[in-house]
Amino acid sequence: MISCHVHPDGDALGSALALHRALANDGRKPVVSFSEPFTVARQYRFLPGIEELTPPDQISRAADLFVCFDAGSLDRLGSLVDAFEGAARTIVVDHHASNTRFGDVNLVDPSAPASAVLCRELLRRLDLPLDPQIATDLYTALVTDTGRFQYQSTVPETHLLAAELLAAGVKQYEVAKAVFETNDIGYLRLLADVLARIQQIPAASLVWTWVTQADLARHGIDMEQTESLIDLVRTDGSADVAAVLKEQPDGTYKVSLRSKGGANVGQLATAVGGGGHALAAGFTSDLDVEATIQRIVAALQAA
Ligand code: AMP
Ligand code: MN
Ligand code: MN
Repeated sequence: MISCHVHPDGDALGSALALHRALANDGRKPVVSFSEPFTVARQYRFLPGIEELTPPDQISRAADLFVCFDAGSLDRLGSLVDAFEGAARTIVVDHHASNTRFGDVNLVDPSAPASAVLCRELLRRLDLPLDPQIATDLYTALVTDTGRFQYQSTVPETHLLAAELLAAGVKQYEVAKAVFETNDIGYLRLLADVLARIQQIPAASLVWTWVTQADLARHGIDMEQTESLIDLVRTDGSADVAAVLKEQPDGTYKVSLRSKGGANVGQLATAVGGGGHALAAGFTSDLDVEATIQRIVAALQAA
């Protein structure tokens, strides 16, 4: 049984699908799944092996082995928490500093720029060879979690791994096109609305905006398509921290936080029940937009 965190991103899906295919190529019978809501964001539907995903309500609650990628704590497995707890043995493969080491075996390296780096090392040690599909899954994980090789976590070895993956057959422009250059026009129109109401709070070096369910309905898009919105918001040159609040169907807000180095948003998010990395983190808020922002501002000013 192979899985990853709820609302999987490129690193979570790419790592899980890579191990799944490598084991299947080796004659094993792995199962790969992730939590409800069982929908893959559009930009990741091209990933090799995506059709191998099994719905979470159909997977064993008594697996021999459960391997999970890119999840910093057990609750991040969502509706698969019971499947993890029911497995005979568990392995956690992750790179969050906040990782709670909830597996029997924990392959956790907070200095790794993506879980895919650890996945690639796992394949090497298991003598499971790359093929172009596995390489594409791992490359997508790497290029997304490093912000296209630009974030602070990128080191020389990151580029060496990218080179190895390209040599194994990745068509990198196909990945770039699918992940970064295939927006719905509705998303671009939504951006116009959401960026028009962007706010700065200089006293906290914060820039922020929000997306509502009404915005999504007006432009006919899914919240998963707004993953890269924060990458635009964070480009405000006068702010260290960026926040995007995303209204969920139940009225709570999923909060995305990014820092350019001045603030540790991972600590901030962990303190309010979320998690993440020092420079990229998130949490869920039951408060309204104003109260959520006040909470973030207070935490930033207290730090
Ligand atoms: P996002 O802003 O959703 O792209 O998430 C940024 C980082 O924060 C990722 O490493 C996530 O794994 C982590 N993260 C986001 N939301 C949560 C949450 N509710 N609980 C724990 N970690 C989170
Ligand atoms: Mn992730
Ligand atoms: Mn990751």
